[in-house]
Amino acid sequence: MRVLIIGSGGREHALLWKIAQSPKVKEIFVAPGNAGMMNIATLVPISVEDLDGLRQFALEQQIDLTIVGPEVPLLHGIVDQFQEAGLSVFGPNGQAAQIEGSKRFAKDFMKKHDIPTAHYQAFTDAEEAKQYVRQTGVPIVIKADGLAAGKGVVVATTLGEAELAISEAMEQKVFGSAGDVVIVEEFLVGQELSLMAFVDGTTVVPMVPAQDHKPAYDGDLGPNTGGMGTYSPVPQFSEDALSLAVQTVLEPMVQAFQKEGIDYRGVLYAGLMMTPEGPKVIEFNARFGDPETQVVLPRLTSDLVEIMIAVVEGRLRADLVTWSDEAAVCVILSAGGYPGPYQSGLPITGMVNQLDHRESVYHAGTRYEGSQLVTAGGRVLGVTALGENLQIAREKAYSLVEQIHFPSAHYRKDIAEKAIQYLAQ
Ligand code: ATP
Repeated sequence: MRVLIIGSGGREHALLWKIAQSPKVKEIFVAPGNAGMMNIATLVPISVEDLDGLRQFALEQQIDLTIVGPEVPLLHGIVDQFQEAGLSVFGPNGQAAQIEGSKRFAKDFMKKHDIPTAHYQAFTDAEEAKQYVRQTGVPIVIKADGLAAGKGVVVATTLGEAELAISEAMEQKVFGSAGDVVIVEEFLVGQELSLMAFVDGTTVVPMVPAQDHKPAYDGDLGPNTGGMGTYSPVPQFSEDALSLAVQTVLEPMVQAFQKEGIDYRGVLYAGLMMTPEGPKVIEFNARFGDPETQVVLPRLTSDLVEIMIAVVEGRLRADLVTWSDEAAVCVILSAGGYPGPYQSGLPITGMVNQLDHRESVYHAGTRYEGSQLVTAGGRVLGVTALGENLQIAREKAYSLVEQIHFPSAHYRKDIAEKAIQYLAQ
């Protein structure tokens, strides 16, 4: 088979790493890809937003399966366009991807179908939103409706912060039209859990869970980022708690899609808050999480390509998806200053390449300047290790992290700490 992966981050590097192991696959292309992918795949300089260019390329190169990594092309309807051209493509269509693209759509959908989530109100008028916040009090969560690259959510602990967030989204339009509608949401208390599932329109097969670390600094301090590290499994949550999340969130969502005539095929990602009253949805994503994918795929023992084809063809079965009992930990190395302004083009030294299939450095923001690998983004590398348990996986990941250097490099020192403390109890 000839496979095309669309995207350029750590998630796509992990997808490539796993897909390259499939005996079904002969050649892999990545558009546009990054420096870490060059020795396994052919990089194609087409942007993820150039849907015509991507479709043209897939037709010309007779691609048998296209896998869409990021949300933006999904929302722009890449799957619809590829299907119309007779191409096989993994991901939800534009209508189904609305579950990620519009928070108001997602919240209204959950409310209508009784999926547990935080109470909320949607506003199109800034003054009304501020009035509501003054009545409700803090802590409270302010969310821009549309895509805002992970920056459109503010957990406000003072009224001032809440009003500022409303004003920035709705009056100053810092997220453009993504802030035309703002959701004001109840603050949920608990630990977060990322639970992804393969969905073929009707059948739901959950993946192993992961926990992300969104804040930039140790102890969950500082501004939210795209994710500073992940681990899997998440021992704080029992098999029963996970089954409850599948039964109360993932399965009813897929039934609801069917009822509404929405054909959901691909990955459905539930960002959950595990509250004392049970799992509640913080957000849905219409694709693999980043950096969750970097710890979930190394634990997958079956053929990802076979699973993806079954999803596309609507014949997914639970026995196609098997997992190892081992643990995986991913530590993100970011550029100093991220998620604020940061420098690019910094030389990376001490790189450890794909050592074996148990330790991997997934590239996120890298490129070559001549023969020198340099930084090219906020999140630069995702250093990942598998181990018999979380302690071993974590030690291996951090010992790799310590070998890699670039000026201003930053990483959290407490990835998987919550799990390890829980296990020590
Ligand atoms: P992503 O970049 O993952 O797409 P996003 O911008 O869509 O994120 P959310 O995932 O909805 O934003 O929220 C970001 C973070 O804000 C969550 O991971 C969580 O820590 C916090 N958060 C969001 N909603 C709530 C809530 N109702 N209660 C408490 N915390 C919340």
